[in-house]
Amino acid sequence: MIEGKTIEQWKEEFPLIGQMTEYEEVLWTNDKATEAENVLDKLQLSESDVLEAEARLKRFAPYIAYVFTETTDNAGIIESPLTETSEMKSALETLYKEPVSGDLYVKEDNRLAISGSIKARGGIYEVLKRAEDLAAEAGMITEEDDYKKFASDEFNDFFSQYSIVCGSTGNLGLSIGIMSAELGFNVTIHMSDDARAWKKEMLRAKGVNVVEHSDDYSKAVEQGRNESMHDPKSYFVDDENSHTLFLGYAVAAVRLKAQLQDENITVDREHPLNVYLPCGVGGGPGGIAFGLKVIFGDNVRCYFAEPTHSPCMLLGMMTGRHDNLSVQEFGMDNKTAADGLAVGRASGFVGNLLEKLIAGIYTVSDENLFKLLAVIYDSEQIKLEPSASAGLIGPAVVPDTGDNTTHIAWSTGGDMVPDEVWQEYYETGKNLL
Ligand SMILES: *Cc1c(COP(=O)(O)O)cnc(C)c1O
Repeated sequence: MIEGKTIEQWKEEFPLIGQMTEYEEVLWTNDKATEAENVLDKLQLSESDVLEAEARLKRFAPYIAYVFTETTDNAGIIESPLTETSEMKSALETLYKEPVSGDLYVKEDNRLAISGSIKARGGIYEVLKRAEDLAAEAGMITEEDDYKKFASDEFNDFFSQYSIVCGSTGNLGLSIGIMSAELGFNVTIHMSDDARAWKKEMLRAKGVNVVEHSDDYSKAVEQGRNESMHDPKSYFVDDENSHTLFLGYAVAAVRLKAQLQDENITVDREHPLNVYLPCGVGGGPGGIAFGLKVIFGDNVRCYFAEPTHSPCMLLGMMTGRHDNLSVQEFGMDNKTAADGLAVGRASGFVGNLLEKLIAGIYTVSDENLFKLLAVIYDSEQIKLEPSASAGLIGPAVVPDTGDNTTHIAWSTGGDMVPDEVWQEYYETGKNLL
């Protein structure tokens, strides 16, 4: 029995579960989706929370530009390019033998500075907020100060009394680890032992304490949480429940709005925007989708993309049971090459917040993730990790919204992948094509 029902009863009530447990690719459209204006003002987070997060990142920009010189050109604002990918659109049409209407863009979070993935949004933001909170409490900083102070020995010494802890399958650990170490925090990242070796090595090289667990990711997170709770100087980044992390991601929407304006891309009733977001526990895609709904309302449709072996958000959203259900209870193995998306139980916070706002969720096989990874390199010379290619197939699988549609596939990671590892991904994809 799972939550009072047998698997057969679940499948009867939600026939898609039958296909999901066979690891078939599926599309679910959200029949609970409701006009944004009737939903947004009843939620626990609002536009002003997003703008506050954006303002905090602006305060930190001079510091970021100073300590991470790769961000100097962008004045310390960590943001990714929006790239038109018409070659990829043609390649997608060839691959799926389906015409795709509208224009295809890729939002290249694979190129985000500092940690090369979408986690450079939420993860870095949460560490910065923690640092600001501590420094403000100690009377060391006010919002009017020059935040380059955060790079001083005085601040580094101060933060060295504190620790930051998180559990991660990889990329969150990289973002939290790199940012925390730079500020002077003690930082411990709990990882499952099947996390990519190069991610662990990179973290250790930066002075991060990496603890490996032979159990799965959720156990790793649990241990981190427990240890941290018993120590007031320790701060646990909780990727299932953190509003801070979520708001760091949501800032992407404000930035995207400006990029769309710069490109003269109209988004209105007649010119819909469809956004495809790879989803693991849900914070990244959820935060971005929330920000986009706040800004574009019903003119944007947000779809989440999950691996066929880890469709946790789909299971939670479709049933409305959110984090009460895990893919493992339904016999799915949660094993996928898309390590950033290998999550068996979705965030209940994100699921509840967005259950009336997302347009749908689809799943992608690992085979197709690798194919897409090869195809986008051949067509656009964009290098992704497997998790990051899940959004690309979106325009070929969701309901057609016509020739005026702008499709944005969010490519969520890739830049930190060592060349020889990426080459293997690419060859895997090529061999499948
Ligand atoms: C973490 C991650 C995601 C998804 O973010 P969640 O907050 O876990 O849903 C997508 N792509 C990549 C590359 C990631 O690392």
